[in-house]
Amino acid sequence: GEYFAQPVQEPKDKLLGGLLPEGLDVNSCVSRYQSALYRKVQKHQPSSYLVSRLRKYEALHKQCGPFTESYNRSLEYLKSGSHSQYTNSTGCKYVIWTPPIHGLGNRILSLASAFLYALLTNRVLLVDPESEVPDLFCEPFEVSWLLPSDFPLIGNFSGFDKNSPQSFGTLLKNISRGSSNSSSLPPYIYLHLLHDYDDDNKRFFCNQDQPVVQNVTWLIAKSNVYFAPALFSVSTFQQEISSLFPDLGTVFHHLGRYLFHPTNFVWGLITTYYDTNLARADERIGIQIRVFEKDPELKLLDQIMACAAKENLLPLVNGTEPVASQSLKTKAVLIASLEYGYFKAMRSMYWKHSTVTGEVIEVHQPSHEKYQYNDKKMHNIKAWAEMYLLSLTDKLVTSADSTFGYVAHSLGGLKPWILYKPENHVAPDPPCRRAVSKEPCMHAPPYFDCITKQWTGPGAKLDPHVQHCDDKWYGIKFI
Ligand code: GDP
Repeated sequence: GEYFAQPVQEPKDKLLGGLLPEGLDVNSCVSRYQSALYRKVQKHQPSSYLVSRLRKYEALHKQCGPFTESYNRSLEYLKSGSHSQYTNSTGCKYVIWTPPIHGLGNRILSLASAFLYALLTNRVLLVDPESEVPDLFCEPFEVSWLLPSDFPLIGNFSGFDKNSPQSFGTLLKNISRGSSNSSSLPPYIYLHLLHDYDDDNKRFFCNQDQPVVQNVTWLIAKSNVYFAPALFSVSTFQQEISSLFPDLGTVFHHLGRYLFHPTNFVWGLITTYYDTNLARADERIGIQIRVFEKDPELKLLDQIMACAAKENLLPLVNGTEPVASQSLKTKAVLIASLEYGYFKAMRSMYWKHSTVTGEVIEVHQPSHEKYQYNDKKMHNIKAWAEMYLLSLTDKLVTSADSTFGYVAHSLGGLKPWILYKPENHVAPDPPCRRAVSKEPCMHAPPYFDCITKQWTGPGAKLDPHVQHCDDKWYGIKFI
């Protein structure tokens, strides 16, 4: 409301090729229909099948979402603690997403994966209201996606772990021991889809074990990984994922643009920053600098500048020549980093010297938080705003292994230049390489053989649509 007193300008393709539903309230979420003003031409159109499945999902969400009659009845069924002697006849099934305390990039990727699972299995996605989601994102559907805070198990979420009696892994163990049987299933199951999952919990990604959860009304999924590529290994999902996304390199791109609309407060930050600092430039270059260790000497600066020069992203400077007053072209550099030093060094370099191409280079950095605070509201807001701003750039350089960078480039539909990590303190050569796809990397794939029930390790043969990640050999991604 208060941030947008002026009439809202209507972009041409405000529905992003049919990805977004029409008719949702404009003022409570200005970004939803305004994002197209800030995004370049939509390079990737969603498939008509994805569009129709999303409309179908929205109808299901409306029918089963919080405080609907179906929701209330499903809740009664849960409270009765009943096994199969009572069935939940509403036809509504749910997957509740609850995040561990982890970085925002990880959480965004896992939430998108949970939504894909909901789409594939006709479940309704509900989100842990204790998470940062309400501070960062608008409601994506007509009926809320936030789990009501009086949901009976809500206090147990943080305690759920891979060995909990309610976990999928434990249930499978009990079934194989004969102490549970698949015809009397509990009303809810906990899915442990974190990087530290064990073999039994990994069986969630096995075709023959998915039926165990199929008829369970309530699934509670805790995850910090982008598990969409692992869903693709379930053969019953594979065909559907391919139909939804004929170009598998755009799975997160579409899901992210569909789900994650900055709240009005965050959108105010993003658009003010963009309009003031980035809009006028002829080209925008994003550089995401994620330093995973202590780095007082700006160890990556040479690597970043070498990458920028080699890939023609930014020009070198001209010794002691003064800054040219009349320039051909202005490039704005948007740096995102917890550190301040890189920005200072680059800004002063381009301030003091002209460039060999005569271009004027402006350097900007919205914040430098120094440390990562996963549960501070304003910190998360800045992180989200910066991921989004990076996604609005024309060319993007990201740091290897960083989910923060993955969200930025996938949302933007950009193939980033990845800064590889130095090995044994030696800067990599070449300093950066272009990613093979726009998809995020799944950092902790199951590598589990569902037949032999053995860990296969990363050497196992991959599906042709999935490949080891550019920046992390252990990980996998859609190509
Ligand atoms: P990853 O650890 O690089 O995979 O990314 P995550 O987003 O999962 O976790 C890193 C967290 O550190 C972010 O969520 C932010 O809280 C913080 N952070 C890291 N880099 C930046 C940055 O460039 N800007 C801001 N504002 N926060 C950052």
